Amino acid sequence: MGPIVRLRAWLCSTLDLFFPRHCLGCESDLVGTESLVCGRCRVVVEQRNAQRCARCASEIDAARRTRASCRTCRDVVFAFRGAVAALRYRGPVRSIVLAIKFGRRAEGVEVLADRLADAILARRTDRRIDVVVPIPLHPLRRLVRGFDQAERLAVAVARRLQKPCVRLALRRARATRRQATLRRAERVRNVRTSFVAGWLAFRVRGRRVLLVDDVMTSGATAQAAAAVLLAAGARVVIVAVAARG
Ligand SMILES: [Zn+2]
Ligand SMILES: [Zn+2]
Repeated sequence: MGPIVRLRAWLCSTLDLFFPRHCLGCESDLVGTESLVCGRCRVVVEQRNAQRCARCASEIDAARRTRASCRTCRDVVFAFRGAVAALRYRGPVRSIVLAIKFGRRAEGVEVLADRLADAILARRTDRRIDVVVPIPLHPLRRLVRGFDQAERLAVAVARRLQKPCVRLALRRARATRRQATLRRAERVRNVRTSFVAGWLAFRVRGRRVLLVDDVMTSGATAQAAAAVLLAAGARVVIVAVAARG
């Protein structure tokens, strides 16, 4: 161990005494050079990505793979051309997403951005897009929370992919009820009219868009947002989410 490494380790352990840091995944105390998540949660976050459906990004059994789509989305028509997901929305990953959203641990976005950028690069999806667009929060909700987690994620992913991020291409037209409290059919209805073209929608015209959100469950939100981008002139929309429910 070199003197710099030793000094850094000493500094970290001394700072931990005064400012205990907690893992975003399990809230255990972070020790030494652990950053944002503990060693055990990092193993989960960095595990190999599952085989995923190219259309909806849900996990598929490689043996049962039929063409590009899975059984879940075989009969569904999506506005988006394809979808990429990095992680399963459960365990420490779910805790990290919730810590960012409700615990104001916005720095956790970096953990998700690393994995999402990896997943995008692994599928070479970066070669199929021109700009990155986040799915926006309603301005009121953003005001209450102080930041927009999907926007931060989109900015962090765009930086890693070296693509421009267009933040105001979409706008929430009205505050939707919390998706988690609704059933699937209600979710679709709930988001159907919730997006409109934003001030910078002209920047997606003729472009291939990577539409970024933190989590995708039913896909209804991504569907509604993608439809608005296509109506605004986007050539293609591909969805990218950190975690797939
Ligand atoms: Zn942990
Ligand atoms: Zn599918």
